Amino acid sequence: MVTRLYTHPIFLEHLTPPGHPERPDRLRAIERVLDDEAFAGLDRVTAPAGDEATILYAHPEDFVARVRDAIPESGIVPIDADTSASPKSWQAVVTAIGAANAAVDDVFEGRVANAFVAARPPGHHAEKTTAMGFCLFNTAAIAARYAQKKHGAERVAIVDWDVHHGNGTQDIFWDDPSVLYCSTHQMPLYPGTGAKNETGVGNIVNAPLAPQTGSDMFRDALLSRVLPALDNFAPDLIIISAGFDAHHRDPLAEINLSEDDFDWATGQLLERAGRHSSNRLVSLLEGGYDLQGLAFSVAAHVGRLMKG
Ligand SMILES: [Zn+2]
Repeated sequence: MVTRLYTHPIFLEHLTPPGHPERPDRLRAIERVLDDEAFAGLDRVTAPAGDEATILYAHPEDFVARVRDAIPESGIVPIDADTSASPKSWQAVVTAIGAANAAVDDVFEGRVANAFVAARPPGHHAEKTTAMGFCLFNTAAIAARYAQKKHGAERVAIVDWDVHHGNGTQDIFWDDPSVLYCSTHQMPLYPGTGAKNETGVGNIVNAPLAPQTGSDMFRDALLSRVLPALDNFAPDLIIISAGFDAHHRDPLAEINLSEDDFDWATGQLLERAGRHSSNRLVSLLEGGYDLQGLAFSVAAHVGRLMKG
């Protein structure tokens, strides 16, 4: 059983303004590092076209139409203060959703051990009715609901170690006990949500980290809060919102993780997927804005996924 990697050239064509941290070069850096022969065993697949109807699993129709109508015929238009769209953004985001849903199919149908989706734009800041924080639609939330509708998953866990709180995923599942959302993130930091006392219907577990903390606090948050919640919930599928902007090199935050921490965290979640989820684990790229920090972290993450 192999680890599958989903990519697609369209992900390079979602354009952001000059100087924007969420840029196509992020995926080029990932592609370069995964070219190494250490990753020769990766099962590389071009993402399939996404099914637009699945966007409605997490967002209402009028919001989806609003985003589609905002896509320009040329140039780059602002969607919010730091989120934008270019002519190919619609195809990029729908293909990102297609890749995530296909990865869910793969792990439920036993084709692969696990999967990593290297797509952009990211998704975890997109709320039910708000595109924000570089995100248009919430790919992880759609994939979780897809697993429930298509494969009969009763309980899906989303573990989000992006350095920013996934306010969008929390918003979408706030009153849905069939989805557990666990997040480690720097606080205070954009978007401002993610306090410990934000618990939804007992299905939200926030583990905020103080600025300038690092490996010890991150691992303690996983061991003391996230992993016990996973054990208690016993998910049928684990989705990782895999942002790598808690890396010490990242320019957008002040958490000092190294690639070793992402290797370790990946191993912990693989172990839980084995214990509760018949090994079903799908990882979706979120943030990560220092190209070297991102590339090394993805290499550690994917390398660990390949070890199973
Ligand atoms: Zn982030």
